[in-house]
Amino acid sequence: MNIHEYQAKELFRQYGIPVPDGLTAATPEEAESAALRLGGPLVVKAQVQAGGRGQAGGVKLVRTPPEAGNAAAALLGRVLRTRQTGAAGKPVHQVLLEKALDISHEYYLSLSIDSAAEQVALVASGEGGMDIEEVAAGRPERICRVNIDPFIGLRAYQLLELAGAIGIPPSLKRQFTSIGLALYRLFTEKDCAMLEINPLALVENGEGKPALVALDAKAGFDAGALFRQPDIAALRDRAQEPPLEARAFDAGLNYVSLKGNIGCLVIGAGLAMATMDAIKLFGGEPGNFLDCGSNSKTEDSREAFEIILAEPGIEGILVNVFGGITQTDLVAAGVIEALRRHREQLPVVVRLEGTGSAEANRLLLDSGLNVQLAGSLTEGAEMIMKLVASQKGRKSRPGAML
Ligand code: GDP
Ligand code: MN
Repeated sequence: MNIHEYQAKELFRQYGIPVPDGLTAATPEEAESAALRLGGPLVVKAQVQAGGRGQAGGVKLVRTPPEAGNAAAALLGRVLRTRQTGAAGKPVHQVLLEKALDISHEYYLSLSIDSAAEQVALVASGEGGMDIEEVAAGRPERICRVNIDPFIGLRAYQLLELAGAIGIPPSLKRQFTSIGLALYRLFTEKDCAMLEINPLALVENGEGKPALVALDAKAGFDAGALFRQPDIAALRDRAQEPPLEARAFDAGLNYVSLKGNIGCLVIGAGLAMATMDAIKLFGGEPGNFLDCGSNSKTEDSREAFEIILAEPGIEGILVNVFGGITQTDLVAAGVIEALRRHREQLPVVVRLEGTGSAEANRLLLDSGLNVQLAGSLTEGAEMIMKLVASQKGRKSRPGAML
């Protein structure tokens, strides 16, 4: 789950990471009065949960309160498309107004999970700002990376070394180190999946001395840990999520939309991965990742199946459940209910094994629905691909398949 920049900056404040003074506004009038309170030149920033706002016109520099009101009017209520939002874009319901600062250099600093190493990775660069992806692609030697041993944690010496490697001026190495340590504390205490400061800007503080300030803040959290982070869970903004993923999240499903043509209804993340592999093995592309969670009941399976039906580009659905705790007869009942609600005919292959599977298969056979039963995962994947291919053959002109 992701949160907005202004919310991430509030967390930064709590952890002692310096951020500019700022206020949020949901209307141009609020923006104007916020600008009056903050005073001086300001930046007005669209609050969408995606990067690339600067290049997409989502960050505006203004000098006066009326200008701030106009900038807010131009952003609020709009859908902002950036290189990270996809074609659908994301709605702007709030703007963040901040005192504009004179930037003399932009650094990059982030923490994320290196799942292969099973460690948190600290990434930093002396070439922060809006084009970090280009730096990573074209000048990878300018990106420095340190993996953090979870039992030892992040140590000051690692940050001091990193500060040297990315060209932090010697007088600011201590500040860089304390920002890095605070960021790591926030990451571990709040069950983050990702924290990013880009740019971490070199500016002049109130007394004309150089200082580092987090001008941007991005934060993502492990959805599986939200049950113990109620303060974070409360920050969720459903309007920023792809609609089907938001619907699945509300239903307690682990769901990710993908580009392919075969929908997969599976219980267990491991089995879901194996099912996606099997679909690819027989020439298909999974249209979604879905782990319904064990102990799914009829309503859960029905909702999951309906979400897959709503996914654009789906040409066939493979249901693959091995019932341990899960009663597969309840899953079958959910699939039947979903299919009865939808008239659309698309190939469906179901493989149900384990608890309740005799009853489950009988329910499916007696349903009168056009559902094919498979005896194994491999057989199911092969069947769904054959059915989708023959359905396509029937839809196109006779002879077109040859
Ligand atoms: P992103 O494009 O979504 O990552 O949005 P950012 O918050 O990083 O803003 C984009 C760019 O706007 C930054 O890289 C800065 O160059 C610029 N920017 C943001 N805040 C300020 C500021 O206070 N003063 C100045 N001069 N530029 C800023
Ligand atoms: Mn940024």
